Amino acid sequence: MPQKYAPLQAPRRLLFGPGPSMVAPRVYQAMSQNVVGHLDPFFFEVADQIRTLLGYAFSTGNSFNIAISGTGSAGMEAAVANFAEPGRKFALLSNGFFGDRIGEMARRQGSTVVRLAKDWGEPFDAQEVREFIHREQPHMVGFVQAETSTGMFNQARPICEAAHQAGALTIADCVTSLGGMPVLVDENGIDIAYSCTQKGLGCPPGLAPITLGPRALERLKARTVPVQSWYLDLQLLDTFYSGHKYHHTASATLFYALREGLAIVAEEGLESRWERHRRNHLAFVAGIEAMGLSMHVEDPANRLWTLNTPRIPAGVDDTRLRQYLLSEHGMEIAGGFGPLAGKVFRIGTMGYGSTRENILMLLEALEAALKQQGYRSAGNPRAAAEKSLAE
Ligand SMILES: *Cc1c(COP(=O)(O)O)cnc(C)c1O
Repeated sequence: MPQKYAPLQAPRRLLFGPGPSMVAPRVYQAMSQNVVGHLDPFFFEVADQIRTLLGYAFSTGNSFNIAISGTGSAGMEAAVANFAEPGRKFALLSNGFFGDRIGEMARRQGSTVVRLAKDWGEPFDAQEVREFIHREQPHMVGFVQAETSTGMFNQARPICEAAHQAGALTIADCVTSLGGMPVLVDENGIDIAYSCTQKGLGCPPGLAPITLGPRALERLKARTVPVQSWYLDLQLLDTFYSGHKYHHTASATLFYALREGLAIVAEEGLESRWERHRRNHLAFVAGIEAMGLSMHVEDPANRLWTLNTPRIPAGVDDTRLRQYLLSEHGMEIAGGFGPLAGKVFRIGTMGYGSTRENILMLLEALEAALKQQGYRSAGNPRAAAEKSLAE
């Protein structure tokens, strides 16, 4: 029976959760361009631009920079499936949810996983990291640079140095740092880094950028056991991106989006982009503290500029507050989970969404939402944020 449907109309949300973040208008425009075939010369032109632009965003001279069809977890799975060999030792540094997801994937690949774990949001001690890796002598070391479950930035350099001394390669999850904080693949000595499109890059979800350094490429070539995952086999994927042979039907639309998101990063310049994220994060924290709230990650130097985790004050119901923000302000923020459930908010200030106006709007909405539950703000968050921004 024929029926009429009005064209789909999605609501316009203010996305301040841990991702997806706000999509840049220019990215939406790119996505409405004509779809071309996945073997069309134009498609490969876009893929080549992405290769170059990803090198810039990751701060690397690597030439193996591709976008995997799938979300950030597909990037994680590709990194793990290609490098965590069955029966070999995989050392995991975990102080949050995503660290443990890497470990679970490595276990499923048949690796022996050894863990150095900290409480969610506790930093690693460089000396402890060195001792752990030296003692374990692993084949691979995995860690999360920007732990979105806690708001914690983990320093990559000491981990990579210790790993290389032990002859191990490093996998870094840069899902919430790429496009918002210094990832610095080459400077830190990261061998394999992956990310996603929907956090710091201001694109919709659907692709997972990944970069491999020379040591990683050598290790791949030397593999004797084929990679268990056909779809995520990086050497097979390279026959598509470099060899222009059919592997799978990559989405031209998502490639346009990523190309545009990365072009915006390059035009803004990485340093200015990091500085924008840093300033807006500091202003947000100033506002949060002015209201009398405290941050879960204690040392300011360990905090993510892209994802903030203020503690929920006593007497405030997390779910009710988030429902209020969504219904009254069309605004999405997230709560904590695992050991941090009901204890922290997770508020994203990343990519296209990290602006002065958004920070002020967020703080005012939060103040109103807290007040609605009887929480009395200690001071004026807007004034504190403005003061921070003027410094
Ligand atoms: C979001 C996130 C992921 C997973 O990405 P998806 O796009 O949800 O698959 C992995 N690691 C970290 C640190 C993340 O924040």
